[in-house]
Amino acid sequence: MTDQNGSLLILSGPSGSGKSTLCRELCAAFDFATLSISTTTRSPREGEKDGEHYFFTNHESFQSAIHRGDFLEWARVHNNLYGTSKSWVESALAADKTIIFDIDVQGQASLKKLYPRAATSVFITTRTSEVLRERLAKRATESADAIETRLVTAAEEMTRIAEYDYLIINDNFETSLTALKSVAIASRLKRGESEIADFTARWNACDPQNACAIRKS
Ligand code: 5GP
Repeated sequence: MTDQNGSLLILSGPSGSGKSTLCRELCAAFDFATLSISTTTRSPREGEKDGEHYFFTNHESFQSAIHRGDFLEWARVHNNLYGTSKSWVESALAADKTIIFDIDVQGQASLKKLYPRAATSVFITTRTSEVLRERLAKRATESADAIETRLVTAAEEMTRIAEYDYLIINDNFETSLTALKSVAIASRLKRGESEIADFTARWNACDPQNACAIRKS
């Protein structure tokens, strides 16, 4: 057993909570962390690059990917489709990486079901809905209508906070990042039942200096 394990660190929360920036900073901070890049049918926002922020695709290709079983999970959010690549997650886990997911509440429920032990989830939000409204307006990437849609979705997402392992209220970016780094480190110390059983068996195995000598006496 290695000292630290691959893990899934799921971050959800309203758009505008600062979640995406926290994800990116977290990945930059640790060699073991890697960001899961989702596929989406949403159009790129200004400055977003294909393969870096998302893999942008059309509805038809997304549907084909669903039928091929390419996604570990997928969901409709704000009338767009978003999905997590199955093969990519599996190979990152095999390489003992901690995969950082910026996904919605539906995605976290699916991943928690698939990886009950290896998945750790964190909900990130603003202190009030008003702060969220201000941040979205300041970001100026959406129309007034789209902002209202996002606020409605945010209120719905907030009803599911109890499903998450941790809650971060992002008043201060540095404080939130420190908290998130601690959770990422801790997530790698989780162990599955079979791993614990292997470790315990080896721990109990004959050690001529100690266990066997004591048992024989
Ligand atoms: P945005 O359009 O603002 O980038 O993302 C909208 C929402 O979709 C966010 O809550 C984001 O976390 C979520 N999202 C992004 N990728 C995925 C994914 O692969 N699966 C799921 N379930 N949600 C995603």
